[in-house]
Amino acid sequence: MTGQPILYRGAALADGLGPQLRTPVTIAVEDGFVTGIFDGNDAEPAASATVIDASGATIVPGMVDCHSHLTLQGGAEWIARGADPTADLIDAAERNAAALLQAGVRWVRDVGSPRRSDAGDGRERALALGLRDRWRGQPGYPYIRAAGTWLTKAGSLPAGLAVEVNDADGLLAVAIGQLDDGADLVKLYLDGPEAGVAPWTADEVRAVVTAVHARGATVAAHGSGLANCRLAADAAVDTLEHGFAIDDDIAATMAANGVTLVSTLSVMHSWLTFGTTTTMERFTGDKSRSDISERLEMAEQSVRTAQRAGVAIATGSDFGGGSVRAGHLAWEVEALVKAGLEPWQALGAATWQGGAVLGDPDAGRIRVGGPAHFTLIHGDPLVDPAALWRVWRVI
Ligand SMILES: [Zn+2]
Repeated sequence: MTGQPILYRGAALADGLGPQLRTPVTIAVEDGFVTGIFDGNDAEPAASATVIDASGATIVPGMVDCHSHLTLQGGAEWIARGADPTADLIDAAERNAAALLQAGVRWVRDVGSPRRSDAGDGRERALALGLRDRWRGQPGYPYIRAAGTWLTKAGSLPAGLAVEVNDADGLLAVAIGQLDDGADLVKLYLDGPEAGVAPWTADEVRAVVTAVHARGATVAAHGSGLANCRLAADAAVDTLEHGFAIDDDIAATMAANGVTLVSTLSVMHSWLTFGTTTTMERFTGDKSRSDISERLEMAEQSVRTAQRAGVAIATGSDFGGGSVRAGHLAWEVEALVKAGLEPWQALGAATWQGGAVLGDPDAGRIRVGGPAHFTLIHGDPLVDPAALWRVWRVI
């Protein structure tokens, strides 16, 4: 089917590759692909073209959420939701998909979903893998890259959620098992059962990374404390998720080993809002609030340290597996700016840097010949990242 060419005329363009807004710009789209990007208002429309007056709007690339949990709904009781019945998890995922698209988040990297049976054949595997397969090519759904289930040293996460192992041989075996299940990446949970102690040696994790890479897949590693972040950096995983404790030495190792930081600062911003929107002591108590603020400050410092060392930074909302809701990735862009990134760098983290994490040169980029997955918003996101919330049209 050949569609009518569409011109989005006279907009501004912010692509996260530099600090300058390009305006006016006209973008031509045909059959779902970008066929032209013209400076000015007067791209010559074909007689059959539909012209959309995009004046005053800003075009941004579709965003990439590198840290998400499709089957979970988030909110202040996010941990409890992981034990919900399978049908509820699938329902949450459908709602999340709609919310993501509406917000202009077009690519999603799922970094952990409960292991259940949902295909009617009794086979158990991470739920996000089935969703990815069923949603592929369907209009109205984001592109999914999915890890399997969290892989942990026994006792690190609430019982029943993760695939737990006791030793390094077990870790390697379950990592390969996730790939056999169809996972695009493996999620290692590197916070161990004992706070402040890395659950594995760097050699043990490196062996998993080597084996996973040999299968053409990647490794995402959750790490929050210093010992856990150091382990991820030393083991040369593909991404360090959260990375709330990065010192100069860890940052230098990450840069040397090509480890991208996937930031999830908005989780702690959301906890601070729960100080007034819930009556839960863990968010409302004076001590809780100051602990959260302190943790956020340390995480912001880690982002600055990583950036100074030349570490690539991509964004994650941690929706579902944390308290943030699907589609709220703009919060992370705001949080990165608050942490010290320039707005264009934070937009880049949420777009093309995320595409680099996915290994997809089209994800988070607008280019002639590429898919027309962009969003028209209001305001200048290169000055004020809150503009990303003001979505007018999702293309
Ligand atoms: Zn997570």
